[in-house]
Formats: sequence, structure tokens, C-alpha cells
Amino acid sequence: MSDLNTAMAERYRNNFLKEVEANVEEGEWVKMCMQCGVCAGSCPLGNAWEHTPQKIFMMIRAGKREAVLSSDSMWMCTSCYNCIARCPRGLPITHIMHGLAHYAKRLGLVPKNQPTQEFSQIFWDNLMKKGRVNELKLGLSLYFKDGFGQGIKNALANKQLGQNMMKAKRMNAMEFFGGHGIKDTSGLQKMIKKAQEIEDAKIQGNS
Ligand code: SF4
Ligand code: SF4
Repeated sequence: MSDLNTAMAERYRNNFLKEVEANVEEGEWVKMCMQCGVCAGSCPLGNAWEHTPQKIFMMIRAGKREAVLSSDSMWMCTSCYNCIARCPRGLPITHIMHGLAHYAKRLGLVPKNQPTQEFSQIFWDNLMKKGRVNELKLGLSLYFKDGFGQGIKNALANKQLGQNMMKAKRMNAMEFFGGHGIKDTSGLQKMIKKAQEIEDAKIQGNS
């Protein structure tokens, strides 16, 4: 268990709903859910998930902290907004799902090898290097994330896609040696670092 996770579990012992309200984006809306099931029925992917939004909200109120924060389901939300458009109580369901995923990541509770989380992290690391995404390196990082052998297999399987991207100038082999970036990369990195410090102080203040 991470130190932050331990601290938060202690602080909100027996009141997971309060913890969500204080630390998860739009978490204060969860108590408004009346368990009608419209979101579960509207979600195009919900059937494939272990926990639909309706179930997640029910589990939050039932205090199932570990089960919610280690759930794979909120990572699978595609932000289609079907659920928000139909919820009779107007809950910002999409934002809560992403907020829960973000909170789980901060606490170190994301399931191992969760593909959306892995992609998000690789994308973020790539973006932060120069302030713009280097598509070639992004593709290579994804292909080779499970080792060299698997990387070669992935690259061969997607050879045509790579060639098409190069033809359409969406990817350039020279990007391997640097690639484009913004003018003030260190300014951007400082700004993000400061924002992270503010966020950390906020969450520590709640703990
Ligand atoms: S549609 Fe809204 S009120 Fe109904 S279960 Fe989903 S979140 Fe709750
Ligand atoms: S926004 Fe997410 S949770 Fe809502 S219906 Fe779409 S995929 Fe499902």
C-alpha cells in the first residue's frame, strides 16, 4: 500500500463516500444517484465491464473502497457522454469515472497492466519531453512496452499503418532523432511541476 493510500484510508475510515466527495472530480454528485440503471443501460461498453457506473456509485455508497479504486471499469470509459445525456438526475457520470481513475492512480491502486493507464502514461511522458507529441517515438514506445520480441511482432503487424502515416506526413522517420517541440519546453515543465505541487498539497491537506 502506498503511503498516501494508507493515509487516505485512515483519514476516511468507514466513510468512502466522504473521501470521494473530497478528492474525486465531481465526487460530490455520487450521493444524488437514485440507482435507476439508465446509465448502465445506455453505456455502449458497460456490458463488457465488471462494474457499470451505476454499480460503481452503489459500491461507493456501500464503502467498497478497495473494489472501486482497483476496478478496471472506469479506465475503459470512452467519454461518449451517452450516460450524462440520459441520467435523470443530471450526474456528470463521465467526469466522475475519469476522476475515480485519476484518484486511483495517485493512490497507486490501478490494476497491473491496465492498457488505458499504460497508454496514458506513455503519452504523457512523450508529450512532456518537448511539449508536443512525437508520433514515431509514441508508436515505438507502445510497440516495445512488452519487450523487444513483442515489439518487432507489433511493428510488423502494423507496418502498413506506419507507412500510411508517413505518406500522409503524420509521422516522420527523422522524429527518431529529435522531432518538433514548443519554444519553451522548460517553461512548460516548470508550469506542470508547479501544478502537480499544488495538487499534491491539496490532497495532503485533505488527508
Ligand atoms: S442514470 Fe444517473 S441516477 Fe440513474 S443509476 Fe445512473 S447515475 Fe444513477
Ligand atoms: S461516457 Fe463512459 S460511462 Fe458514460 S456511457 Fe460513455 S463509455 Fe459509458
